[in-house]
Amino acid sequence: MAKKGTHVAVGKRTLELTNLEKVLYPNDDITKAEIIQYYLGIAPTMLSHIARCPLSLIRFPHGIDGEQFFQKNRPDWAPDWVEYAVLGSNNKEYVLATEDASLIWLSNLACLELHQMQVKSPKLDKAYYMVFDLDPPEGFNFRQLIEIAVDLRDHISSYGYHVFVKTTGGKGLHLTIPVNAKYSVDDIFEAASIIAKPFVQKNSLTTLNIKKDARKGRVLIDIYRNRNSQTVICPYSLRGRDGAPVATPLEWTDLEALNDPLELNLRNVVGKVNEEGDPWEGIWSFSTDLHTKSDIKAEVKKLPVNPKRKTPAQLDEYSKKRDFDKTPEPKGLFEGGDGTGFVIHRHSASHLHYDLRLEQDGVLKSWAVPKGMPSKPGIKRLAVATEDHPMKYITFEGEIPKGQYGGGMMWIYANGKYEITKEKKDGFYFKLNSKGFIGEFRMHLMKEKEWLLERVDHLQQDLLDQIPSPMLAKSSSKVPIGDYLYEMKWDGIRAVFVVNEGHVSIWTRNLNDITDKFPELSDPKLFRSISGVFDGEIVCLGAQGKPSFKKVIHRMHRKGEKEIERAMKKDAAYAYLFDCLYLDGKLTIHEPLIRRKAWLQDSIKKGTNYRISETLSDGKELLAATKKLGLEGIMAKEINGLYTIGKRTEAWIKIKNKVTDRFRIIGYVKGKGDRSNGFGALHLADRTDSTQYRGKVGTGYSTKKMLELYEMLQTLGVGEKKIEAKLVDDKESVWLDGGPLCQIKFTELTENQTLRDPVFVKLLL
Ligand code: MN
Repeated sequence: MAKKGTHVAVGKRTLELTNLEKVLYPNDDITKAEIIQYYLGIAPTMLSHIARCPLSLIRFPHGIDGEQFFQKNRPDWAPDWVEYAVLGSNNKEYVLATEDASLIWLSNLACLELHQMQVKSPKLDKAYYMVFDLDPPEGFNFRQLIEIAVDLRDHISSYGYHVFVKTTGGKGLHLTIPVNAKYSVDDIFEAASIIAKPFVQKNSLTTLNIKKDARKGRVLIDIYRNRNSQTVICPYSLRGRDGAPVATPLEWTDLEALNDPLELNLRNVVGKVNEEGDPWEGIWSFSTDLHTKSDIKAEVKKLPVNPKRKTPAQLDEYSKKRDFDKTPEPKGLFEGGDGTGFVIHRHSASHLHYDLRLEQDGVLKSWAVPKGMPSKPGIKRLAVATEDHPMKYITFEGEIPKGQYGGGMMWIYANGKYEITKEKKDGFYFKLNSKGFIGEFRMHLMKEKEWLLERVDHLQQDLLDQIPSPMLAKSSSKVPIGDYLYEMKWDGIRAVFVVNEGHVSIWTRNLNDITDKFPELSDPKLFRSISGVFDGEIVCLGAQGKPSFKKVIHRMHRKGEKEIERAMKKDAAYAYLFDCLYLDGKLTIHEPLIRRKAWLQDSIKKGTNYRISETLSDGKELLAATKKLGLEGIMAKEINGLYTIGKRTEAWIKIKNKVTDRFRIIGYVKGKGDRSNGFGALHLADRTDSTQYRGKVGTGYSTKKMLELYEMLQTLGVGEKKIEAKLVDDKESVWLDGGPLCQIKFTELTENQTLRDPVFVKLLL
């Protein structure tokens, strides 16, 4: 008997995990616990690609150096909830991964590698992608393989397909082409052959010959994976090889920069996906028909036509409610479609709500969801069925004039393709695929027009539970020009504001909870959105309405309800918000800044202690204005830049106005070259504590002035070095015994407490 394991809850399942400390990758010292952690970390994204695909499993119970077991049949000891599909002439029961727990159960069996078939339950006779497996011979240059992959991508694209790429974790690459799930695997193979033949003919480094000795050093374009019961390694599966490589989906630009597929492995892939997103996100919304079958049209149900309008009666209600001379919305015409499109609108009408629209029989079935899309299982949302909308509405975005039906801004929050994953007596399960928003949901009819909407799967990154560290900016002394938005740099406390189902919490940069310190900011009624994560600065205003850092710090240090209350009455705090990281079930960090700003603006109520940090298009003018007003400076942010959690990037640049302060001269660096008869730079310290080093200043004086200063410093006694910091020019430094004070202009203190861009102003005697 195996020794008793640890019981853990994964979603609604309880799993017994065993031998967690067993090392499965001996050369990398990777234990089973780490493998389980990897699969748990990647589960939401991985399942978005492989859920309900029949799997072949490769188990390594004794580690990657031990015996491997290929397993196609579902093991006898599989728990009842592990779903399976029966396939093939000998009725094998293939395991299906359907939830996080399936992946964890498999990793506990030391099943490192998951290989998938091209079909998905319940449509086990229809393939949903085409694959080209680039299989290089031993020792083939990986960079050269990338070039072939790029050429092949261009060739495949010329037939009208969207081509996605992943590493295999070995030496090869997989090109995956999403296809509408309505063809047999044989149809897919036929199309792949037709595409591959001319490519191989003009590319002498490639072959379609599967026999090893006939390949003669050429790369096999393996189209034979498009065959019944053939499998390929799943996206995000580990490989049972040294280095624990992961078969990783990539952006084409990232592939072109990759030197070795081993760079993508168990230790970094989850972090990469959380930071940059999944390069295959929404891949299934790019599905197309096979080019060989383009003459077969989708079946669209014939709808009863209203003889007056020549459009389906179903769109009558839509048309009656609108005046098309006044609203930019599309007319209620019948367009048809293949029944796979969806859109979710964020509709900023008098009551903010979302509209979910699913294409069916040539129209968009619509529901208004007042509280927005649920972010995780367990949250139930009311969805009220509204009138059917015309197909054109799927790409509609715009402002409906006030006074018109639904007046207000209608944003596309997500659009792509959807699929029904399960039909139920009183409803259905459906999966949304789009770039920027994926998820599986359940719709359940309660009565008449009232439905209940629930999320079935998890978000890869739920910022409501894992509070993000804010994004940081690089410093510059110049205002960058180009595609930037400019805003004030607020002198306050940087904070992350989390609205979680109507509960507000406020966090510092270092993720300390400071909600209680600012009662005027912790009321959920200040927000229009039910859930959101926002980035901003808490500010107290001083004389002439200028931000007072002193006051806000004072607020932060108050303790006890009464003291906090008193301080609040004296100096109210305002939150100037400038970014939106998450909104009503959708991670927005990969949306361009300009869109995040628009949604941010729409998420708070007007006239409260929450304000929007306004943006301007002229940075120089704004900097000049802040200088005149004695404000800290400005921020320049790339209009289309993404939000990178906790990172300092070029997408945000801070430009600070210089400030003047007093410091003590504690020594100098002996001069070189044209300064050889004086000093090169002055060492500075805090004016009251000479052991606190503030760096050097080497500009702001002429040679003449420098020599005068030098002469003065010579009259002072030479002393010991009192600061702790080791300096590169320690040997060339002279330390003074009690130096004079001076005035310095600088932009800010750096993280190690030295001055940024210091300029000498004058000696203070
Ligand atoms: Mn609406």
